[in-house]
Amino acid sequence: MNFAPGSIDLHSHSTASDGGLSPTALINRAVNAGVHVLALTDHDTTDGLFEARQAANSCGLKLINGVEISVRWQKRTLHIVGLGVDTASESLCAGLKILQSIRIDRAERINARLEKAGLQDALEKAMLIAQDGQVTRTHFAQALVEAGRCKDMKQAFKRYLSAGKPGYVSAEWAPMEDAIGWIHSAGGVAVLAHPMLYNMSAAWRQRMLAAFTETGGDAVEICCGSSNAQQIQQSAKEAVTHGLLGSAGSDFHHPEQRWIKLGGLAPLPASVTPVWTHPRLATLLQ
Ligand code: AMP
Ligand code: MN
Ligand code: MN
Ligand code: MN
Repeated sequence: MNFAPGSIDLHSHSTASDGGLSPTALINRAVNAGVHVLALTDHDTTDGLFEARQAANSCGLKLINGVEISVRWQKRTLHIVGLGVDTASESLCAGLKILQSIRIDRAERINARLEKAGLQDALEKAMLIAQDGQVTRTHFAQALVEAGRCKDMKQAFKRYLSAGKPGYVSAEWAPMEDAIGWIHSAGGVAVLAHPMLYNMSAAWRQRMLAAFTETGGDAVEICCGSSNAQQIQQSAKEAVTHGLLGSAGSDFHHPEQRWIKLGGLAPLPASVTPVWTHPRLATLLQ
């Protein structure tokens, strides 16, 4: 199964989590960007998929049901994307419910810490921005910018929301085996997201890929919106070593983040077997 480079994008966000566009606006933007196959992969929720499906049907885009699950592994946070999931799966729904309550609990603790750092009503502000979507650190970052405490989101993460900073709290997200188990019982394919974005040494990355493979993971993202040519080559090598399929996803959030576009990704290196050849996705894409 061949797709023109840039026409398939298997990682994106909407207002159901920390994306800036509604599912409908996201789909329309993807079509205008020349994307034929898009996965909507919001953080710990599939709530955007119903609206996205209606929009995709009306404009002929192939939508893959997705979700990006927050995972705690070796005291680190990892993201595992599920592709081709059945949103009615009881196991997946129950798992996501747990993560959503962890998000609320963590948001209350972030609020208390930001209050100590002098930002009043941070949770209220973040929830107003998040509206019906999952509350994420991105919304706290936006609240910090709107309150004039930081000049942009990047600075808000750097000064307040990254590990070790005044507004950071760690959370006990899902164990890796649970996340992969929920995705598989929902009929989906488990993809380790953006392996180069975890601030890990190469040795730790090998440990992570080995654990992911042993736990039943299927694929790893190789072409991300943030990856350079050297990272793509390195990730491709690692995917082959660990026997993982390769995925391509921009991780698009906001049109204002002009350096990350929908689609437009580099082609997967020829050494890698594309994740869309996995039987589950191949069936969906027929
Ligand atoms: P959370 O899952 O609530 O901890 O939020 C994680 C999200 O925050 C990621 O998916 C990114 O969208 C965003 N994020 C993390 N680090 C940064 C950063 N340094 N700059 C901008 N956004 C970030
Ligand atoms: Mn995000
Ligand atoms: Mn992520
Ligand atoms: Mn993402």
